[in-house]
Amino acid sequence: MRNRQTRRDFLASLGAMALAPRHMEPELILHNANILTVDVRNPRAQAVAIAGERILAVGSNSELQAAGAARTKKIDLGGKTVVPGFIDAHTHPAYAGMRHLRWVDCDLRSIALIQDAIRQRATNTPPGEWIVGFKYDDTKTSDGGRLRREDVDAAAPRHPVFIEHRGGHTAYVNSLALERAGVKEELADPPGGQFDRDPATHRLTGGLRERATEPFWKVIPFQLTRDERRQAVKLISKMMVQTGVTSVHDAEATPEDLLAYQDAHESGDSLFRVYCFIQYQFLDRMMAAGVRSGLGDEWVRVGGIKLVCDGSISERTARLSKPYVGRPDDFGILVHDEMEIYEQARRAHEAGWQVGTHANGDVAIDITLRSYERIQREMPRHDPRFRVEHCTVVSPQLIERIAKLGAIPTPFSTYVYYHGEKMREYGAERLGWMFAVRSFLDAGIRVTQASDYPPGPFEPMMALQSSVTRTDSKGNVWGPKQKVTVEEALRVGTLHGAYASFEESLKGSIEPGKLADLVVLGQDPMQVDPMTIIQIPVERTMVGGKWVFEG
Ligand SMILES: [Zn+2]
Repeated sequence: MRNRQTRRDFLASLGAMALAPRHMEPELILHNANILTVDVRNPRAQAVAIAGERILAVGSNSELQAAGAARTKKIDLGGKTVVPGFIDAHTHPAYAGMRHLRWVDCDLRSIALIQDAIRQRATNTPPGEWIVGFKYDDTKTSDGGRLRREDVDAAAPRHPVFIEHRGGHTAYVNSLALERAGVKEELADPPGGQFDRDPATHRLTGGLRERATEPFWKVIPFQLTRDERRQAVKLISKMMVQTGVTSVHDAEATPEDLLAYQDAHESGDSLFRVYCFIQYQFLDRMMAAGVRSGLGDEWVRVGGIKLVCDGSISERTARLSKPYVGRPDDFGILVHDEMEIYEQARRAHEAGWQVGTHANGDVAIDITLRSYERIQREMPRHDPRFRVEHCTVVSPQLIERIAKLGAIPTPFSTYVYYHGEKMREYGAERLGWMFAVRSFLDAGIRVTQASDYPPGPFEPMMALQSSVTRTDSKGNVWGPKQKVTVEEALRVGTLHGAYASFEESLKGSIEPGKLADLVVLGQDPMQVDPMTIIQIPVERTMVGGKWVFEG
């Protein structure tokens, strides 16, 4: 706590100095701009002066004209809109980067096209070696239905094949993969998982839910070299900064991922800032090294410990109090029970870690909150900023408890727009309380913007449109009461993300003393038709005073 206080004091003094910076010359002034600062004291500006990695001053064109020195570079933005860099508060960048580097991208619109992609990879892969795909989505294929083992057998009969759903909680395998993982017809479902079976014949279909994927992960060789991991971060950071994302919270990293972020930063290949949550299973390793949340710097910082309570929204396995529409016996899956969540969270909390628990369904959120409430009673800590990762299906009672705890929800920001077709399985009534950004804000909760990429697209303009319109790509409206304004969505996507990592004094708004992370947009999202926000071009992205993307 002391360190944090010191840093805040330092920044405050830097901010005050910046207003009369006689000895601090700006290196760069962006002027003639429409700056949406997300700073309540100074919401609009025309110009921003930058020195090194930081913002020196923010004001009108004439005010900042005076601040410029002879060597100051000036860029006339011609009235373009500038917003703070976006913070994706729950995403899986290293994981996604490694997949983009090595696996078959199955984000394709028919089973036939997916078969072609597998067939293609099979021609370049020695028979018997694994072929792994990702980003398959059962609701996005025109020829319908889920991938079946026969479909995959037909494409690659001599290779074990594992195709991951874009949500990451389910997978689809072929016959050889079942054989390699030792999954036989008579094998019972594991706890917290399910092997899909044909309702008529009871034969395995190749579909795997939640922990039923574990036997496969044990036999799929997915060893990347340290250099490949660095390259994976390079690749994904380039993809993300192009869309205006300047900071990410890796929601579930391994120590190797943390190393990859450090390596990529050191080699100059990583373009974004990372707050890195660590999987619970590695808590002992981290504790043994004396590490806890907050260690690092503004580029790569150790985040919280990540726990998992239930299933997924996009794959419809989240644990709900009322069943899925059309499946009266299906309430979803609880991956870890209340005792496990409580004990894991308590251990991490006691060791000084921030805790984030994946909880999508209302049952899982209730369990998670009860665990946090109990921990705070038993060992109270000032400002623990407990996080409820996703926190999708809520109720007025759950929201009240979240507000009381000061906890932070990180709901999916692009799901209404992108995953509209899956929303029917939740139903219109429940959608009124899903991704409940309006209700969170009204309760004073600092809800964040999050993609969960790969499961959800990470483009911040899609997130803004989705939150503001609550309308999917086909025009269906889901939970209109949860609409927020562009201004609110912008704050959620920037300053609230900074708060969720204890970095609100460092970034998240365009104000003196903060890091110079910002985005130049082709149009003002407050001025365009909200249904067209997604088309706003991201023209430039700056991180730490340097352009990392110029379109
Ligand atoms: Zn996630």
